[in-house]
Amino acid sequence: MSRANRGTRRATDATIRRRMQMLNQATLASRLARTRRRLFVLALATAVILLAVSTRWGGPGVMGVKAQRKPRYLPAGVHLDQALELLRLRPRTGALLDVEGEILDPDRYPGSVRLNGVVVPLTTQVAPGSVIRVRHGRDRREPIRRREVKVPGGEPTNPQFVVGTAPGVMEVREGTISNKVLSTVFRPTGDVKVRREVALTFDDGPWPTSTRQVLSILRRYGVKATFFLVGYLAERYPDVVREEIRAGMTIANHSWDHPEIPPFAGRSDAFIESQIGRTKEVLSRLGGTTKLFRPPGGSTSPELVELADGLGYRVVLWSVDPHDWATGQTASRVAENVLSAVGPGSIVLLHDGGGDQSATIGALPRIIQGIRAKGLKLVALE
Ligand code: ZN
Repeated sequence: MSRANRGTRRATDATIRRRMQMLNQATLASRLARTRRRLFVLALATAVILLAVSTRWGGPGVMGVKAQRKPRYLPAGVHLDQALELLRLRPRTGALLDVEGEILDPDRYPGSVRLNGVVVPLTTQVAPGSVIRVRHGRDRREPIRRREVKVPGGEPTNPQFVVGTAPGVMEVREGTISNKVLSTVFRPTGDVKVRREVALTFDDGPWPTSTRQVLSILRRYGVKATFFLVGYLAERYPDVVREEIRAGMTIANHSWDHPEIPPFAGRSDAFIESQIGRTKEVLSRLGGTTKLFRPPGGSTSPELVELADGLGYRVVLWSVDPHDWATGQTASRVAENVLSAVGPGSIVLLHDGGGDQSATIGALPRIIQGIRAKGLKLVALE
């Protein structure tokens, strides 16, 4: 046997011994792991049994209850008020609000606590397995009453289509407690009495070039008219708005940015209110009188009329539409369309903004002269 061979065998023996040792260790480790697993399962089972016992029979210190439909645990023997504290369940109180959402009474509608379906004193001891149910008080709005006020002298209808008034009743909706008026809508009961007057109205401005051209014609003929302005344009061209006011024109509201699709009247209350409200703000900052509102596209509804009224506006539509906005429209056709349809009380829809208004501007002198030739007076809406 060579020296090298002997060395190898010795090395081999050592390897075998080491392997045997490792094997023994592995067996020991796996046994230990198994024992630990068994102990864990046993401990878990004990815990579950203890919990079950304590829950069901109010065992040592802890009891199970149901609160808001969920299983919860409480120290045994607590009173209802302590239980609510521990479970962080305090019934909120609902307030009484007026028609504008202001608080009339903050504590009007208290919440309720039921123990096993019954309202009991908060000092009642909670038994294991009890059902606790908390109901929060809700905010409520004061009732609204409708009241009718006779208007024998008459009022413009709302929405308004013509210059004139009708006898009727003002339907007032108001809070029964605060007496705050939510809306007033005029309902005519008789025929509209029109005046021998015609109102020219100009929509979709201010538009820097065409609005000034319209204004200069109106001034030349001494005519007062009504302008329904788009809010964001009024903000962009405040000088044009000031010129309209200086010229004695009525400044009215035609929404913030003229949304037509989907129809304006079908949009949410909040949307409509912000469209009218933002424009109202800009116009009043510029010194405009803003009691009249014309919805984009003339889209209206009873709900829209009430909303606009809540913001201080009457809805104004029209009775004569010469389609001055149509592509390829000519001045003579616009003048003809107006003069063939106009009569006492007419409200005429024209445009000073929104595109090429050369047909409207070209027709305007003929429209003014033609209406006056019929013995009708040109007026701005009030
Ligand atoms: Zn328009």
